[in-house]
Amino acid sequence: MAFVTRFAPSPTGPLHLGHAYSAILAHDMARAKGGRFLLRMEDTDLERCRPEWDALIQEDLRWLGLTWDGPIHRQAGHIARYNARLEALEDKGLLYPCSCTRADIRAALAAPQEGVAFAVYPGTCRARGMDSRQPGDALRLNLGAALEHLADADLGFTETGPAHAGLHRVDPDQALRQIGDVVLSRKGEDIVAYFLASAFDDADQGVSHVIRGEDLFDFTPVQVILQRLFGLATPVYHHHRLIRDDQGKRLAKRDDARAIQKYRAEGATPADIRRLVGLPNP
Ligand code: GLU
Repeated sequence: MAFVTRFAPSPTGPLHLGHAYSAILAHDMARAKGGRFLLRMEDTDLERCRPEWDALIQEDLRWLGLTWDGPIHRQAGHIARYNARLEALEDKGLLYPCSCTRADIRAALAAPQEGVAFAVYPGTCRARGMDSRQPGDALRLNLGAALEHLADADLGFTETGPAHAGLHRVDPDQALRQIGDVVLSRKGEDIVAYFLASAFDDADQGVSHVIRGEDLFDFTPVQVILQRLFGLATPVYHHHRLIRDDQGKRLAKRDDARAIQKYRAEGATPADIRRLVGLPNP
């Protein structure tokens, strides 16, 4: 199997040490295996993503000495295509419209992050039929119905990261408790959820290995469920350790003090960055 991996930042801020670690790790693993390293901009949040961040992320990656294969895939250019594919779930009766507040829905569209509580939806709108959909409603996956639909499916996935290495199987009860009815899109407003877009893209881009932060491990089940519902391949997952700040918190884009840009301005070299995050120099 060809080794294909990707670095998939959301261009909502500068690249920081945590991103650099993720990108270098994925890049080095791809190069070591003679595989491909892809760059994907997860820029579906049109309010928060900015071309300046997109450009700076590329500049920082190049400065780090990383090269990616093929053109950059930008999700914002494909939203209509992702939404069109959702109709397959609508036909199976696995979606319902949801009119819960815009702020809740907006938060639910982004990739989950450690330290930001993930709100499991209580199911307020679950009984609504698709024919009651109003402009601006979100579409949620009826996870219970989806799991019933997949009762005979193999919901296994392989993890190679240090904390959870081994073969895993989605536990339906745990998925219902911890993840619940996720938002997949807000139709008519050109918005699509991270869970859906990244599941489609990993499959469409032939990604064989997803290398990303440990904070997303608990959400892998929903991507495996979506892969089965759409008949997509499941990559091997490798969730890596997180680079933490001095207080032990995961670094987020808002932690500008750890921005690669700052280290560059202070005269650090790419080799210094590798040393800082505990990765060997080539
Ligand atoms: N855009 C996601 C993030 O920045 C990427 C997650 C992934 O690699 O699947 O958290």
